[in-house]
Amino acid sequence: MASTRFSEFVKLCKLVESTSSRNEKIVLIASFLEKLQACEAGVAVRFLVGEIFPEYSDRSLNVGWVLFSRVLGGLRARQERLLEAEPTLLEVYSRLEKIASSSSRRRKEALLTSLLDTLSGEEVEYLARILFGEVRIGAAKGIVMEAIAKAAGCSLEEVKRAYMFLSDLGDVAEVALEKGRGGLRRVNLELFKPVKPMLAEMCYDLREALREHGGVTAFEWKYDGVRVQIHVRGGKVRIFTRRLSDVTSSLPDVVGELRSWLRADSAVLDGEVIGVVKGRPVPFQHLMRRIRRQDVRALLRKIPLKLQLFDLLYLNGRVLVDEPYSRRRELLEGVIGLGELLARRLVTGNVSEAESFLKRALEAGHEGLMAKRLDGNYEPGHRGKKWLKIKPYESIDCVIVGAEWGHGRREGWLSDYYLAVRDEETGEYLVVGKTFKGLTDEEFKLMTRRLLELTVRRERRVVWVKPSIVVEVAYNEIQRSPRYKSGLALRFARITRIRWDKKPEEATSIQELRRRFERQFRFKAELDVI
Ligand code: AMP
Repeated sequence: MASTRFSEFVKLCKLVESTSSRNEKIVLIASFLEKLQACEAGVAVRFLVGEIFPEYSDRSLNVGWVLFSRVLGGLRARQERLLEAEPTLLEVYSRLEKIASSSSRRRKEALLTSLLDTLSGEEVEYLARILFGEVRIGAAKGIVMEAIAKAAGCSLEEVKRAYMFLSDLGDVAEVALEKGRGGLRRVNLELFKPVKPMLAEMCYDLREALREHGGVTAFEWKYDGVRVQIHVRGGKVRIFTRRLSDVTSSLPDVVGELRSWLRADSAVLDGEVIGVVKGRPVPFQHLMRRIRRQDVRALLRKIPLKLQLFDLLYLNGRVLVDEPYSRRRELLEGVIGLGELLARRLVTGNVSEAESFLKRALEAGHEGLMAKRLDGNYEPGHRGKKWLKIKPYESIDCVIVGAEWGHGRREGWLSDYYLAVRDEETGEYLVVGKTFKGLTDEEFKLMTRRLLELTVRRERRVVWVKPSIVVEVAYNEIQRSPRYKSGLALRFARITRIRWDKKPEEATSIQELRRRFERQFRFKAELDVI
């Protein structure tokens, strides 16, 4: 019988929290899990990683901190539980389920009150930490995965693979403890059970993508829309978002389009739905983050949508995730043809061909390109280098105010540069980034000589210099930075040119950079409000 008490779980949390040894945390969690029934282990694992419901589920508690503290306030300050009956882990979970499924605030409050009534002060504290995502008891997902592997006697790789397909660590723990290693190994992609989509890493430019993929790669247009995973069997079609919510009913046109093109009995397809107005794509990705909201559904029905498919994970009973990309794409072309629905792509090793392909994507209003390793398998939920995204970048002029001596191949050169912009008001130069990317060997040598002439101060590996050399710097994003006094940092900064022709006073100002940052930020904020 599943009778593990919630207080025992809290005891585990305290133990895990009190040790700094990663190994010990794993052992503690594993030996706790071993003693549980499978369904209890699922709940315990979710609580440990700060989730309540399975990651793929749409359920949410909808209890804010205000409500929680009001209930708590009403319960009088106390250390001991009020009622004798100590709840089990599963009882706490089923109460939370009830709270999630009730739509009235008063009912939620009443249910929460009766739940908190049964807990001690310490247990309430831990429950609050689970509910508000601040569990932070040092049980990161990696540790919990290792603990599951240990408890079930299988390898971490097996746990990770099962997690790719199940999309919830609680479910992984349940399968591992109930069906053991064999059961975990049998976990695979199944029709109508969405998996997390494979993700891409950011990459500097086309050359780097080619280098990373061994000289030749498949470039595809990067569409700015909404990622969809479509499961089909016979006449049944289900469309899931990146967060695995089912949005089929909002996309009747897409379903229709797919039905008329697809030549397969069953399939799982990966793609992007984009909005097209007057032949041009409309950026509505941000709106779609709220895809479950009614107004967005209405909006979706209004915007003409187009489906662009780029991957095939399952075909006529066969799982294809372990097949190389090139084979999956070939099969995809076989089932939907070479028409409208297929994402544009170019397989090449030639930089100028890739450049003109990128130009065409941008001119058509799309975001950039993706580069996909020809021999890459499909890794659900994983962000790695098998897929790279290349977006056009912006650039500014920075002044080099310091440099660090290089390592390895760059030993003996000042090769890592502190990039600064000017404060128009004070004339001060403020660091906004650091990079060792972009220069040729000859330029590194020349730069080292010039910087040494400009030295004002040395500090371990850093040579601080008089602001004088201007460089054009490309970046993909401006971020807030607590590290730099400027408060901003360039992401993916790399030097595109040395501007010997420019004076430091002509460099970009911090005021301009702030404006660019806000533009980025405001854009997101505005869309979020809708
Ligand atoms: P990002 O959201 O910037 O991390 O970029 C990755 C996203 O680009 C994916 O999750 C997809 O939604 C989208 N995307 C657009 N076109 C493609 C494509 N051809 N291949 C893969 N992902 C694409």
